[in-house]
Amino acid sequence: MKEFELIKRYFAEQSITRKDVVLGIGDDCALIQPTERQHIAITTDTLVAGVHFPLNTSARSIGHKAVAVSLSDLAAMGAEPAWLSLAITLPEINEHWAADFSAGVFELCEFYNVQLIGGDTTQGPLSVTVTAQGYTPYDKYLTRAGAKAGDWLFVTDDIGDAALALLYIQGSVDIEEVHQANIQTKLDFPKPRVLVGQVLREYASAAIDISDGLAADLGHICSASNVGANLILDNLPLSLAMQESLPLMDAYKLALTGGDDYELLFTVAADNKVAMETALATTGVKITCIGQLDSSHKIKTLLNGESVFIDMQGFEHFTDK
Ligand code: ADP
Ligand code: MG
Repeated sequence: MKEFELIKRYFAEQSITRKDVVLGIGDDCALIQPTERQHIAITTDTLVAGVHFPLNTSARSIGHKAVAVSLSDLAAMGAEPAWLSLAITLPEINEHWAADFSAGVFELCEFYNVQLIGGDTTQGPLSVTVTAQGYTPYDKYLTRAGAKAGDWLFVTDDIGDAALALLYIQGSVDIEEVHQANIQTKLDFPKPRVLVGQVLREYASAAIDISDGLAADLGHICSASNVGANLILDNLPLSLAMQESLPLMDAYKLALTGGDDYELLFTVAADNKVAMETALATTGVKITCIGQLDSSHKIKTLLNGESVFIDMQGFEHFTDK
């Protein structure tokens, strides 16, 4: 099978066709006709085999995850996803792999009404790059920069499970059988918080998606917004798997420093808190208040009301050795 046959069979046959796509896959460029008076949010992410996912990750998971991490960035801006382009580099043309991979890509696209409008297919070490684009209403979007001292800090769902799954794969931690499938799913099939992000446009003062670990990403909000934070460790939402697999302080540390959660971390002014909680109830996604911002320009961790020190270096791709 040749490259163009692979593209035609596995990537050009998507069932949804959006009205704002004038021309999709097949020509030198895609053409879109965006809705007037909206901003277009654009984000690109690359996943490299062995760096961003373990080498034995299933093709379906790689497809799902490549789309999920980009939709998660759109969610963090409060954008509604619309179009994707997909650049894949493959060691060889493998039809089974391509079929499973494209199933992973399209399951999220179909759920969120996102159209794949183009891409590139090349040969080389396995890596996948997705560019996702979406809409925000004019002048209504979330950034990292709007948080104020006094705002409450919230996070969606549980954190640390994906990092726990990685530790398990690496053989550094034992996990009871009942929890294994759940945390593997958290690592392989993250759920971008697309609807939460759109609801938050009305209420949040700042938002970011957690890709490099909660502490590192909270640091981005704090430096962009020029604030500090008090993090209440007792409130960190930890799954049963986290609570039962690690001593509590290790679980907190992993929740703060482990990557790959793709949950949203956001801030809300005290005046908007109740309205935000009510509006988000419709999404069915759990949210937890994990602290409050101050003007200190530092992140402090509290346990039982007392300040505790936790070494919070997030995962770095390029660390000095
Ligand atoms: P060109 O050489 O002009 O860039 P290509 O042969 O790379 O064209 O691609 C042909 C068409 O297929 C283009 O519309 C391109 O966007 C699309 N395409 C290529 N690879 C992919 C892919 N992995 N997923 C989706 N569309 C793709
Ligand atoms: Mg090309």
